Amino acid sequence: MLKSNKMKNTALVIGAGIGGLATAIRLAIRGIKVKVIEANGYPGGKLTAFEIKGYRFDAGPSLFTMPQWVLDLFLLANEDPKKHFKYKRKKVACHYFWPDNTQFFAPSERDEFVAKAAQTFNEKPQNFFQYFKRAEKKFNLTRSLFLEQSLHKLKTFLGTDTLKALAHLNTYELHKTLHQANEQNFNNPKVVQLFDRFATYNGSSPYQTSGMMTLIQHLEQHYGTYIPEGGMHQITLSLFELAKRLGVEFHFNTMAEQIITDQNKVLGVKVSQTVFKADMVVSNMDVVPTYVKLLPQYPTPKKIVKQEPSSAAVIFYWGIAKEFPQLDLHNIFFSTNYKAEFEALFQNHAVADDFTVYVNITSKEVPKDAPKGCENWFVMVNTPADYGQDWETLVASLRARILAKLSRQLNTDLEPLIACEEILTPPLIEQKTQSYKGALYGSSSNKATAAFLRHPNFSQRIKNLYFCGGSVHPGGGIPLCLLSAKIVDELSKE
Ligand code: FAD
Repeated sequence: MLKSNKMKNTALVIGAGIGGLATAIRLAIRGIKVKVIEANGYPGGKLTAFEIKGYRFDAGPSLFTMPQWVLDLFLLANEDPKKHFKYKRKKVACHYFWPDNTQFFAPSERDEFVAKAAQTFNEKPQNFFQYFKRAEKKFNLTRSLFLEQSLHKLKTFLGTDTLKALAHLNTYELHKTLHQANEQNFNNPKVVQLFDRFATYNGSSPYQTSGMMTLIQHLEQHYGTYIPEGGMHQITLSLFELAKRLGVEFHFNTMAEQIITDQNKVLGVKVSQTVFKADMVVSNMDVVPTYVKLLPQYPTPKKIVKQEPSSAAVIFYWGIAKEFPQLDLHNIFFSTNYKAEFEALFQNHAVADDFTVYVNITSKEVPKDAPKGCENWFVMVNTPADYGQDWETLVASLRARILAKLSRQLNTDLEPLIACEEILTPPLIEQKTQSYKGALYGSSSNKATAAFLRHPNFSQRIKNLYFCGGSVHPGGGIPLCLLSAKIVDELSKE
């Protein structure tokens, strides 16, 4: 391997989340000696899995888009991705259910989607085509500026891509909310709700986030949705193995306690009584606790702590002793009043009386994930981040209401079918991954300026300190965490 950067020979990555793994891989490919310090006994952070009574559950992310950004890591390492990471494209993106028993099983292929949606919702096909075209334009114009580079370097704004992006400001619908953009494009409120839902992909409210966010659905609609062979956890496992093949050294069950600096330059990381020294440090820990816990020698930037966290979630992992042919890998059971749902989340830090339920069932695609004749249900409700709510009471009430809602819509009494159960709450998410207030995606994107408010991928004050993962630029979710690693890699060459 070639050493492209003589100045940085050693690196420490704090955290083996997906962003930390991808950063470690990219740095190791450059010949840098990389150590990863991970508090848990396993890699992956939120992207992990567990098994109970013969049911395997992916614990966190369930939707996989942009697989090419995983493949890139194998290709960069001169490996054949097919040998190490297999996945397939879904023919049906999601099964949608409404309280009035309307159902829509959304085909992945665009023309099929439009034909079926136009018929189901009595909506003009043209409305869909023009929506998709505008979203594609937004994505193509802004991808390089907002997703693949640091927004905090002057040179980013001097490139031709940026000038092109800025010349099309009108296209981005920044002056509208996502909901307004959807409402202006579609007539049927159910179609509006379906496209509003994509705000939840970065933990925001469609009634607050900007119309720019119509591009989120583009990732799913245009590039497709996928499922790794063996489930989502394979993303973590395959990247972990790749990192090890590249010589990355992992220290599990090891909590980083402080980032050691001297004259505003990184020296290493303190762990228990030892200091690991390195030329550069990358924090994959959420940026808020990175400042609060690991950099007590510096004031925590107020604007970072003050940012509104994204939504969090309560998840019930249920082993279900029955098969439901009307369900697929991804299933959404919508609420009646979507607006009330998001007002409750972001204005009242509560969950509305009626709420949307997402059910993910990997055993539909990976039969060995559940015993024969059974299914592994990952049942998720969006909640506010942890502001000290009484989670025990809230979980008990959510459980009862989810069971009532799904039992009614599936015409089956579900409670007796629950063979085993685990529950994840925002405080547990924080405990397991250090995510500030248990938010799923770092800070919310409820403001039109959110992209500029996220913490950069480098410290403007401390030399050779970098940040990757869902709490910093370009944002949360697997694809963006992978891109944060790419940006850190580029920045660290400077
Ligand atoms: P994290 O996963 O946050 O991991 C950080 C790691 O750092 C952890 O392993 C932690 O132990 C370690 N760490 C922290 N502090 C220290 C320390 N001081 N010392 C040592 N180690 C430390 N995304 C999608 O793309 N699709 C989805 O469908 C999706 N659904 C989600 C559902 C749920 C329930 C959750 C929780 C998240 C979901 N996400 C989804 C978001 C996605 O999981 C995250 O954006 C992404 O996994 C975050 O990765 P990360 O690199 O920021 O690291």
